[in-house]
Amino acid sequence: FWFRRDLRLDDNAGLYHALKSGHKVLPLFIFDSEILGKLEIKNDARVDFIYQQIAKLKQKLKSHETDILVEFGKPEDVFKKLISQFSIVEVYTNHDYEGYGNKRDLEIKQLLNNNGSALYTFKDQCIFEKNEVLSNANTPYTIFTPYSRKWKEKLNAFYLKSYPNSKYYSNFLKIEYLPIPMLKDMGFEKSATKFPSDNLPLDIVEKYQEQRNFPAIKGTTHLGLHLRFGTISIRKCARMALKTSETWLNELIWRDFYMSILFHFPQISEGKAFKREYDRIEWRNNPAEFEKWCQGQTGYPIVDAGMRELNATGFMHNRVRMIVASFLTKHLLIDWRWGEAYFAKQLLDFDFAANNGGWQWAAGSGCDAAPYFRIFNPRLQTEKFDKNLEYIKKWIPELNSFEYSPPIVDHDFARKRVLDVYKKALSSG
Ligand code: FAD
Repeated sequence: FWFRRDLRLDDNAGLYHALKSGHKVLPLFIFDSEILGKLEIKNDARVDFIYQQIAKLKQKLKSHETDILVEFGKPEDVFKKLISQFSIVEVYTNHDYEGYGNKRDLEIKQLLNNNGSALYTFKDQCIFEKNEVLSNANTPYTIFTPYSRKWKEKLNAFYLKSYPNSKYYSNFLKIEYLPIPMLKDMGFEKSATKFPSDNLPLDIVEKYQEQRNFPAIKGTTHLGLHLRFGTISIRKCARMALKTSETWLNELIWRDFYMSILFHFPQISEGKAFKREYDRIEWRNNPAEFEKWCQGQTGYPIVDAGMRELNATGFMHNRVRMIVASFLTKHLLIDWRWGEAYFAKQLLDFDFAANNGGWQWAAGSGCDAAPYFRIFNPRLQTEKFDKNLEYIKKWIPELNSFEYSPPIVDHDFARKRVLDVYKKALSSG
């Protein structure tokens, strides 16, 4: 069984099928040099997180008299080596919907087939995938609300059921001990980041509807990282959501929605706008302004607080993500792809589908019914969602002094400028 973004033993679909296959199961994880090679930061917290989770899996597997084989390299090379070392009948794994992951899985499937074995893949990271939620005309939804309605109609106990993996743990291959490469052998270091807990917090979910929009409160679950790497099961989360909070359930449905958008519209992973006419926008792309945005130095306190939270912790509150993304694209007229790439580097919960979806939503080019002239006003957003400036003061201690930077651009001026530029782009062609 090949672990990827599903780093847990219980309620893991692909692992369940492997354990029931009638063959002895060898757990495998590959630190993919193609993916790691693209990361610029040597103490990238996500690599350390994966490393720690693999160490935990090793501990758990030890109590079942087995272990996990951890390799570092290009998956194709790793599999070539494994094919020569073991007699592999079948390889089990869970679906990946991203461009690179799809291509890699097709190559591995071909390689295994050429060597008389097979690759079997399963749905694990979402409740509904691929063509499971389509409109009555059998087309993919491009707007969230009708998608979520259909999603809820389709839902039944079957889709929420846990896979009872623990019944079959005796089917692991018996292994004494396998060595694991060190982080530094792969070019990485331990990070100082404190990772959020993987506990499903009932108290937060119960109050989610009332508290989720206020960044000064811990009103959201911080489970994004765990959902990203599968250290918590989406079925477990969805069961709790269904019982406790429809608002939180909707957030989980947004996650499925963006995965389904990526599946049906793979052009978004080639850097294209979902609504193609938005690629006619003439971005200003001023590098100095972009740098100020990245560092939280725009002079707009709510924007700067968000960017500083992101840089310091790898997390940013959803409300603030929307504000900073709107600010970059609309106030500064910087291409959403620049912001998307910066978030991809910094976010612990970075997920291509959700991140691209969030950025295109903010730029107006994405799956959204709202017109492009919705432009967030940072001051009004602050009055609504951080009226006592608690969140802002936490991240900008110098706010009350004369040291604080003047606004990088005037709001009314920026608003008029972006409306002109968008209008020109969208009425041409
Ligand atoms: P909660 O509010 O507790 O929600 C639970 C889970 O639901 C989240 O962990 C996440 O898995 C899912 N979820 C919630 N909102 C969304 C959403 N709008 N779209 C997709 N899934 C959602 N989310 C990511 O997981 N990865 C990203 O890279 C990412 N980038 C974003 C970029 C922008 C510009 C914006 C506006 C949003 C982005 N989001 C992303 C969505 C959302 O901001 C985060 O999922 C959320 O803030 C994570 O906090 P939490 O774990 O406390 O979530």
